[in-house]
Amino acid sequence: MTLRYRVFLHSYLGFNSNSTLFYGEKDAVLIDASQLLSDSHVMAAEIIRMRKNLTHIYVSHFHPDHHFGLYVLKHAFPNAKIIALPTTVKDIAFTSSDKVELWAIDRFGKDDIPKQTTIPMPIREPRIELEGEEIVFSDGWEGDSVDNTVVWVPSLRVVCATDVAFHDCHLWPIESNVERRKKWRESITKLLDFDPRIIIPGHHDEAKLKILEEVQEDKTRSYTDCVDWSIKYLDVYDEVYQTAKNGPEFLELMNKYYGHVKAEDFAVHWLARLLFPRTCPDWVTPLPGEPGKIFLNPDGGFDGDPPKE
Ligand SMILES: [Zn+2]
Repeated sequence: MTLRYRVFLHSYLGFNSNSTLFYGEKDAVLIDASQLLSDSHVMAAEIIRMRKNLTHIYVSHFHPDHHFGLYVLKHAFPNAKIIALPTTVKDIAFTSSDKVELWAIDRFGKDDIPKQTTIPMPIREPRIELEGEEIVFSDGWEGDSVDNTVVWVPSLRVVCATDVAFHDCHLWPIESNVERRKKWRESITKLLDFDPRIIIPGHHDEAKLKILEEVQEDKTRSYTDCVDWSIKYLDVYDEVYQTAKNGPEFLELMNKYYGHVKAEDFAVHWLARLLFPRTCPDWVTPLPGEPGKIFLNPDGGFDGDPPKE
């Protein structure tokens, strides 16, 4: 049987990240968990109903919206191997306590994030087989953090861009500066080098979920629009970052282009607070912690843009 995929879009509060299940006649492989345990509970129930044997859960990078839910999935699927590339394993190990502390906030409620993180097993070979078809993992991609990885399924010509590309969901430039965003753009463009028919973005809205379902059925169609969308978003963000003079102006300029995009809209507020700590009015969504102590990279440093005031 030709492989198929099913994308699970997680909740607004869970950053509208997604997980992708690749499956054959009997076996299945899951790419990424969710941030919120409730989202992984919902997804686990759906996967159980599909009556597939989940052999592996692959984690794409150290951001918690891709691995916190392992806390639920490891109990729901005790036979599934939880795997990641060696860099991701190291990054999750180095950030695990920071991330649990960072996100243990009222916004999520005490039962929706794990008490501790689950560390995946490192894989030596960057590929696994699913019913005779290859699933290939590659690292060294720039995305919404350092050390992103990408998944390629040659038999389907499908790429999981994970957090290299988003679509109709605010990007997360909080952890990148002007220089890193140049490399990020290069990585986004490089997704097309696979010559994919479909690129599944790492975060998106409901409408894209529907498109991803439709293009799977209609082999004459392709969907790689998240590439152009993400590059344009970074261009707009860089322009606004250079021109805005205070918090309200930054939000006004971003909203001029992306006011209609609801998925992860709070991230734009957090950006405003980090860039303009003095001029953000009370209605701007509060940060989940103190600047300098949040959104750190696996080395404990901050990769984001410096404050402008
Ligand atoms: Zn993410």
